[in-house]
Amino acid sequence: MSSLPPLLGSKPIGGTYDVIIIGSGPAGLTAAIYTGRARLKTLVIAGSSWGGQLMLTSQVENYPGFPDGILGSDLMNNMLKQAQRFGAEIVFEDAENVDLSRRPFKVVAGGIAYESHAVIIATGASPKELGVDGEERLRGKGVSNCAVCDGAFFKDKNVVVVGGGDSAMEEALFLTKFAKKVKVIHRRSELRATKILQERAFSNPKIEFLWNSVVEEILGGQRVEGVRVKRVDTGEKFEIPCDGVFVSIGYKPNTELFKGQVEMDEKGYIIVRDSTKTSVEGVFVAGEAKDYRYRQAITAAGEGCQAALDAIKYLEDVKHRSK
Ligand code: NAP
Repeated sequence: MSSLPPLLGSKPIGGTYDVIIIGSGPAGLTAAIYTGRARLKTLVIAGSSWGGQLMLTSQVENYPGFPDGILGSDLMNNMLKQAQRFGAEIVFEDAENVDLSRRPFKVVAGGIAYESHAVIIATGASPKELGVDGEERLRGKGVSNCAVCDGAFFKDKNVVVVGGGDSAMEEALFLTKFAKKVKVIHRRSELRATKILQERAFSNPKIEFLWNSVVEEILGGQRVEGVRVKRVDTGEKFEIPCDGVFVSIGYKPNTELFKGQVEMDEKGYIIVRDSTKTSVEGVFVAGEAKDYRYRQAITAAGEGCQAALDAIKYLEDVKHRSK
């Protein structure tokens, strides 16, 4: 699996663009393909770890057009190449600052200021944390959010996966390639995951389930040694020895940067007014920065296309108005 982007030409050094797209997951790169093909001067602020969540996934089996599946990183590399083919410039830095109150809009990344007449926010979401003792202290020392990244460190070890959704089942199934035993700890007595993933997890002899239970503390000195668990039905508390804890309990939107500038709900998801339009004229949003419901690569890509078409139309209208 390659996480390195294809080599680029010279790095952009500031300047004014028609559109700046912030984020380089399926939403951002699809938007860039569309704005690039519309001959708009397009800049993608891709982030220092570009490509979004699919870079941390193994096989993607449900993206149409790949009947045998495709590696998440291959899919993203393809999208990046396709966006570059239509002229999108890419900066592999994190956006540090945005000013959406001025025109043109201003985005600072890697210490360089860029300006644009339209912005597409496609910053996606990040894994949620449990917020229990030991989680931060032991991160990278047995605590992880990414089985694909860290699973190989747990060969013949006992690991715990927390969560009951699709992500947790994918993590658990992936970990069975390495671990001796995978214990899924879920707070309810049934899974939220789709049936096909449930069936695979239930039929895997390495996976065990602990229902109606929450992790209250992650234990260990230099490395993870276990978890303290509480049963929510009986109140019983006990410890489970383990070498790794994979937290897989959903995501939070990466929208900190835009706080106070575009309208958001109480969880930080950006509110859309009409299709992909935000509360600021000329600023559009696609993917998990706004979508807490579908959260699929294909829906993010679809929204990236919508945001690009909305931005193209907006820029045409502005041009027409100024004539
Ligand atoms: P999710 O569907 O929101 O599931 C989160 C799981 O974590 C739920 O089981 C939830 O329990 C549990 N949870 C949440 N907060 C918790 C806490 N504080 N303590 C303990 N448990 C907690 O998130 P996801 O699995 O990351 O999936 C997100 C979206 O991505 C979904 O739409 C999913 O379909 C999609 N996805 C799809 C694929 C695929 O198609 N192959 C793969 C990965 C993700 P409850 O069930 O009790 O709420």
